[in-house]
Amino acid sequence: MKSYDVAIIGSGPGGYVAAIRCSQLGMKTALVEKYSTLGGTCLNVGCIPSKALLSSSHHYEEATKHFADHGIEVPSDIKVNLEKMIARKQSVVDQTTSGIDFLMKKNEIDVYEGLGSFKDATHVNIKKNDDSTETIEAKNIIIATGSKPSNLPFIKLDKERIITSTEALKLKEIPKQLVIIGGGVIGLELGQVYYRLGAEVTVIEYMDRILPTMDAGLSKELNKVFKKAKCNMLMSHKVTSVERKGKQVIIKAENKKGENVEIKGDYCLVSVGRRPYTDGLNAEAAGVKINDKGQVEVNDHLQTNIKNIYAIGDVVRGAMLAHKAEEEGVFVAETIAGQKPHIDYNLIPGVVYTWPEVAAVGKTEEELKDANVDYKVGQFPFRALGRARASGDIDGFVKILADKKTDEVLGVHMIGARCADLIAEAVTAMEFRASAEDISRYSHAHPTFAEAVKEAALAATENRALHV
Ligand code: FAD
Ligand code: NAD
Repeated sequence: MKSYDVAIIGSGPGGYVAAIRCSQLGMKTALVEKYSTLGGTCLNVGCIPSKALLSSSHHYEEATKHFADHGIEVPSDIKVNLEKMIARKQSVVDQTTSGIDFLMKKNEIDVYEGLGSFKDATHVNIKKNDDSTETIEAKNIIIATGSKPSNLPFIKLDKERIITSTEALKLKEIPKQLVIIGGGVIGLELGQVYYRLGAEVTVIEYMDRILPTMDAGLSKELNKVFKKAKCNMLMSHKVTSVERKGKQVIIKAENKKGENVEIKGDYCLVSVGRRPYTDGLNAEAAGVKINDKGQVEVNDHLQTNIKNIYAIGDVVRGAMLAHKAEEEGVFVAETIAGQKPHIDYNLIPGVVYTWPEVAAVGKTEEELKDANVDYKVGQFPFRALGRARASGDIDGFVKILADKKTDEVLGVHMIGARCADLIAEAVTAMEFRASAEDISRYSHAHPTFAEAVKEAALAATENRALHV
């Protein structure tokens, strides 16, 4: 039987990053993955394929709607070849997952393909495709088994027309009418892909706004973009039934007034969140506690109730984000190696890769109000930037929230072109506990979208924005 310092179950961004860091720290490491490709949800059916389709559909939208403004004439019969678009997406995924194979070899990590399950607290059984089982021994085990799409109890996902994000990433035709249940990150990113390609999109959201956990100003601005694209945005609607009739899906919902609404589509995407995934893991055999939300229960060191077993990523509490899983992978590897790492969960940014992009870090205004924090706001619109006008991306703003007394930046919320990248400046500033004035006093290249961050900081400092 092979013996390891660390065995990791699950090869998503949590698991494979943990494996690399364990190996860098001199530990003999094994990585167990049930699928034949590494990279988990993120690389195979999540972050990477969705961004590939967002990019492709953005090109199409630019060509059909905006090229003419730039003096570029395109034929009026410009068409989408969905099969080719999906094939390109798959080749991006394939390149990315094979990159992980390379990284595993480079770091001398033993990769096992098969379903990993606990035999006991120091042994993992690996059930392979040919039904054979191999057992490995490990001093430490990291559970990184991720998540799967959630569903509503009354919906039968047929995965043909009543689908999750996994199927929405490989459709064979452009839906004519796509009904999306859940106006969160997945619903909006994939909703934007398909409305750009020509689908009539309806978004049904239970709460009173899309992206209900983000700053309300961001939700409002993105809602405008979807409405401008003629999407039917049904807020405060509770879906009560979803039924398939031939090629049609009939969705019934109840609005705030208690009235029943019926919406029909040829596809229905269910994107109401994801659930932690521990099926087949046999956690009980090791005595590992799973809580009533289905998450592996961990302490502040990401250690389970069993001392040598840790858990990271989507399968534990907190935001279900790839970069959060990565941070936790590194954290656990360093903890096992005897170091004292630290993660500031307040500084894990959240990004929605629609266009305009939405990004945030730190506290929202709602959270600061609830905590009775005296704060001030500095906001700057992208339309006042020369760079934004030059490219034609004038929607959106940057909002900085700072402590009224100390001027420390407490939260940054932005919507606009390239915000997914701009948010890194806010994270850096907050990591070093910058004040709004600090940000306003360092130089930002001109003309850039980043100038909006400086201007919002100026606005927060003494209402000193220069270009409004
Ligand atoms: P996962 O990536 O889910 O990986 C878990 C792995 O464990 C899987 O490969 C699974 O097969 C394997 N596994 C499970 N059980 C076993 C077992 N018993 N034995 C062996 N292997 C097992 N996040 C972002 O930060 N940015 C984005 O842009 C983004 N876009 C997304 C788009 C979509 C459509 C979706 C669905 C998700 C997106 N996410 C995004 C979320 C992101 O994918 C997850 O937060 C991230 O993948 C979690 O990483 P993880 O390592 O915890 O788990
Ligand atoms: P989500 O939590 O972002 O959104 C789910 C939405 O569905 C919420 O707005 C919620 O109010 C709504 N909802 C819940 N029950 C409902 C009901 N019965 N009827 C109508 N609406 C209902 O979840 P998601 O969009 O499915 O994404 C899952 C996870 O994947 C998220 O945690 C997210 O962080 C991650 N993800 C991240 C990215 C990114 O970082 N860009 C992209 C995609 C997914």
